[in-house]
Amino acid sequence: MSDLPSLRETLDAHGLMAKKSFGQHFLLDLNVTRKIVRLAGPFAGDTVIEVGPGPGGLTRALIESDAGRVIAVEKDARFLPLLAELDDGSGRLTLVEADALKVEEAAIAGGPAHLVSNLPYNVGTALLIKWLTGPWTPTSMTLMFQKEVAQRVVAQPGDAAYGRLAVISQALCEACMVMTLPAAAFTPPPKVASAVVHLRPLAERLSDARIRKLEKVTGAAFGQRRKMLRSSLKPLGGATLCEAAGIEPDARAETIDVAGFLRLADAFA
Ligand code: SAM
Repeated sequence: MSDLPSLRETLDAHGLMAKKSFGQHFLLDLNVTRKIVRLAGPFAGDTVIEVGPGPGGLTRALIESDAGRVIAVEKDARFLPLLAELDDGSGRLTLVEADALKVEEAAIAGGPAHLVSNLPYNVGTALLIKWLTGPWTPTSMTLMFQKEVAQRVVAQPGDAAYGRLAVISQALCEACMVMTLPAAAFTPPPKVASAVVHLRPLAERLSDARIRKLEKVTGAAFGQRRKMLRSSLKPLGGATLCEAAGIEPDARAETIDVAGFLRLADAFA
């Protein structure tokens, strides 16, 4: 990878500019992309899926890593010729032109895989929910979000950012913020800072039925987060549901930990 022209030169050579509609904010400093890949790994020969390779900064770092295969899923077809230049003939890189929201990861990876991505901000949360609650579970996820979204993933009860995304993420994964980056680290710079979250699915995954109930309970509780649970959860059983789950009906959603929400989900018939 070190023989290749710089990412900026590569973009210029292909006449490529970032498109806002694809959420394109590029990382052109390979020291940064290598650091993200170090935080994501080691991969010990495992497959890694990268969503949104764009000009290929993270892709280069992944190819340099101990990943057995790198599968890069890009929606913007303009980047495919540029990315094909990263193929060293070893067969480790596979390029897939597709919308990551629609792609079937199990089919493209053919087995377990890690996810690493500097996510397009406009679909970042939707992709995380897909990987958390969908039919395919990644081995790990190392994902760059807007910092405000990253804070919503790792927030604890009582934090301003604590809400549905934190409860669902942490009911299914161990989640921690491992890196923050200023807007100036990206080309073009977004309006806000970014952060990388590393998520590792818990050994025992919740059943789909429990996930659906957790989604329902957290949706109602945080949909009216200023109200007491006896009111916000009224359509699901209100005070009776709270009592069955051992939760104080006068409490507010922001004070209930993940275990409490799981009890509420389990108490909801
Ligand atoms: N990985 C590159 C980097 O770090 O410089 C680019 C990151 S940029 C924030 C997001 C990338 O995701 C862009 O390349 C964009 O075209 C791509 N993208 C946007 N929406 C997508 C989608 N639905 N499916 C797959 N890729 C998408």
